[in-house]
Amino acid sequence: MESKLQVYNSLSGKKEKFKAINAPNVGMYVCGPTVYSEVHLGNCRTFISFDMIFRYLTFIGYKVRYVRNITDAGHLENDADEGEDKISKKARLTELEPMEIVQKYTLDFHHVLALFNNLPPSIEPTATGHIVEQIGLTEQILKDGLAYESNGSVYFDVAAYNKKFEGAYGELSGRKVEDLLSNTRTLEGQSEKRDPADFALWKKASPMHIMRWKSPWSDGFPGWHLECSVMSSKYLGDQFDIHGGGMDLKFPHHECEIAQNKARDGKKPVNYWLHTNMLTLNGQRMSKSTGNTLLPGELFTGDNDKLSKSFTPMVVRFFMLQAHYRSSLDFSSDALEAAEKGFNKLMEALVVLESIEPSKATIGMDLNSWILKLHGAMDDDFNTPILIANLFEGVKFINGIKYGDFTITASDLKLMKSTLDGLVFQVLGLKHEGENSKSGNDEMVNDLMQIILDSRLRARQTKDFASADRIRDLLSDLNITVKDGKMGAEWEVN
Ligand code: AMP
Ligand code: ZN
Repeated sequence: MESKLQVYNSLSGKKEKFKAINAPNVGMYVCGPTVYSEVHLGNCRTFISFDMIFRYLTFIGYKVRYVRNITDAGHLENDADEGEDKISKKARLTELEPMEIVQKYTLDFHHVLALFNNLPPSIEPTATGHIVEQIGLTEQILKDGLAYESNGSVYFDVAAYNKKFEGAYGELSGRKVEDLLSNTRTLEGQSEKRDPADFALWKKASPMHIMRWKSPWSDGFPGWHLECSVMSSKYLGDQFDIHGGGMDLKFPHHECEIAQNKARDGKKPVNYWLHTNMLTLNGQRMSKSTGNTLLPGELFTGDNDKLSKSFTPMVVRFFMLQAHYRSSLDFSSDALEAAEKGFNKLMEALVVLESIEPSKATIGMDLNSWILKLHGAMDDDFNTPILIANLFEGVKFINGIKYGDFTITASDLKLMKSTLDGLVFQVLGLKHEGENSKSGNDEMVNDLMQIILDSRLRARQTKDFASADRIRDLLSDLNITVKDGKMGAEWEVN
């Protein structure tokens, strides 16, 4: 199968034509969260970006196996080989079992992503579920002489790897081993390493460390990078199409993944590396460790000093998709308010479209060239801001029809509806607010509200204004505001 899709490959630093290894199948692996605290909005940006990519690949006909892991062991505090395991530390501080921490924040992660209308991945494997495979890969790399054991831990031997693969370490991040050395401080435990550039495949657990497994070398735990090497190849094969994650994972995490996989079989594991850019707050990267974060729940309730009001999940999703996934995006309440206006305008136009009557001719828009532009934007490395800008040309046209300036034929109307349905709902993953966000997924509440608003409308139509006002006031006592608009009455919870 042929597609026109071009993707920016971090490995080559260029946009490349996308060619699947075994079309129409596509294998995509994305590094998931380390589940030791609530996901922040920055994490959500990365997962929403890959959701859009998953959706678009599926939309253009690929059968995507999307694997996104849960890191529930092995991720140490400093993102390298030192410090406490992030999950164990939280467990210690809160006096819970590590698996209670994992369960709590995995559920939170799923809940938040569902509110953002993200589709679930095809497989969501965990690091702790793949200890056997991680020990297996460590044994194999050791046997091949590209790792060594030191005091019960096993380290990847970067110098030996570079000798065998002609200086391949650094091929993704562009980092040179010499630069790494001058930037590396000698930390406690690093003396176990022959070289500061080496990284852990297996770490011996200190007596304090609770998450531990038996291995040929020690009671210990796998290095953070190893899980993604074994889980991606287990479910997608030794060579697969797309590997994604946030830019901050390029080094060391993804660089080490490539080295581990190449050490295993000499093959290039991934054809296209896709990296999302960061969501920033006050110009600084949103990050758990610095505390410069906003939580999705704070946005939905408006409960944070940085916010002028609350915002719904769909407005936040739209805000994120208005930026290209490779551009950084700065969060501000003003920018979200602007996104809210745009989102409402788009959604209102889609409602108007449903009630449009066809005419004999289409006047006011060249539908075919518009559709080409929409698809062209997405085929150009998933350019959602250009897609959205072009969608607004459609909005202008729809409003033009509404006010009698333009007309559309029945077949063009059908085409326009299916195009917008595909791109707005299926690809961008947006939906009308009433569909879940007003009162937390409660379809029944929506249906009941419709009955109440219909009764109010009937009262007004029969000039029974006292009853109509009474309904509005009673709703207002429940913090439900009714707004009369062109398209009928709408409601929202304050
Ligand atoms: P973590 O749970 O810290 O491993 O992060 C999960 C994912 O979120 C990774 O792909 C990170 O690259 C990504 N991420 C972390 N911070 C941000 C941010 N500020 N903006 C976008 N993505 C982020
Ligand atoms: Zn990973």
